[in-house]
Amino acid sequence: MTLERLERIRVRLSDEGLDWLLVSGPENRRYLSGFTGSSGYLLISQEEALLATDFRYFQQVQEQAPAYTLAKMQGGTVESLASILQQYVAEGARLGFEAEHLTVALYEKLRGAVAAAQWVPTQGLVENLRAVKEPGEIQAIRRAVALADEVLEAILPTLRPGMTEKEVAWRLESAMRERGAEKVSFDLIVASGPNGAKPHAVTSDRPLGKGEPIVIDMGCVVDGYCSDLTRTIVLGEPDGRFRDLYDLVLRAQRAAEEGIRPGMTGREADALAREVIDAAGYKEEFGHSLGHGVGLEVHELPRLSALAEEPLQEGMVFTVEPGVYIPGWGGIRIEDMAVLQRDGVEVLTACTKDPVVPV
Ligand code: ZN
Ligand code: ZN
Repeated sequence: MTLERLERIRVRLSDEGLDWLLVSGPENRRYLSGFTGSSGYLLISQEEALLATDFRYFQQVQEQAPAYTLAKMQGGTVESLASILQQYVAEGARLGFEAEHLTVALYEKLRGAVAAAQWVPTQGLVENLRAVKEPGEIQAIRRAVALADEVLEAILPTLRPGMTEKEVAWRLESAMRERGAEKVSFDLIVASGPNGAKPHAVTSDRPLGKGEPIVIDMGCVVDGYCSDLTRTIVLGEPDGRFRDLYDLVLRAQRAAEEGIRPGMTGREADALAREVIDAAGYKEEFGHSLGHGVGLEVHELPRLSALAEEPLQEGMVFTVEPGVYIPGWGGIRIEDMAVLQRDGVEVLTACTKDPVVPV
């Protein structure tokens, strides 16, 4: 698997006219090497694959990344990394680095030490490979999705008015851990009533009220892969406004899930849901994009947004999460995860979409 990925990144290197690529993004490092340690750099050319890290990880590299030559960073210092670069990168060589994952401070030091190379900023080289998932990655994602689904369905009937948002978030988080999640994939959001009008609300000490919309956005990590799930619920009987808006968001989601095909751009996918919400008069209330890729990171490529012109491809995994947000009242968001198959979207999320929790 690692060898195949190395092969693919080498093709990208030659497309870009690069002699070397210095990989410093943690998920990119893991993806290309298999090494799960939290510190290290890859240095890749057509002939070489080096993994530079410090003493803490020497054994782990040998176990997890046999396709790579271990380059020992003595003391784990910047100087030790610079001397590895000096040793391998010839004068005048084109050395790509990840502009999104190398700090300015480190870049300046390394560049000073290896001034004979041509430093070339790159963007998204590995991220674009990661956007299309292999079958084994989709299996891990299915497990992460199923675990979040199970936990939310188990916890929903236990919710009562008066519990705080934080209490609910902790119940969900601890239940995911108890069932084997490595960790949560992001800080869980429980946003009740007016708090839900902020798409990225901060979970607070506010007690849940009866009859108000409650947005729960949660996910976990299984075998390194993330899930991302949002449901909007109501404790007790919803009012007419809730029912109307919930139905609208659900219709928008369905339009996207039924309509997305390989070859469509992210913008076209986004428009499928946006048209439904715009037509109902809530254009301004759906202010975020339809979805994002999910994998080793909870937000990665592809983008399903009005600005995304790249075509969606078979094997991509992403969220479909339209929402409507009314200041002072609250929000409705419904988020599924999906994998794009040859003939359309396969929805991975199986959690109930019945918003009513009897109390
Ligand atoms: Zn989410
Ligand atoms: Zn999401």
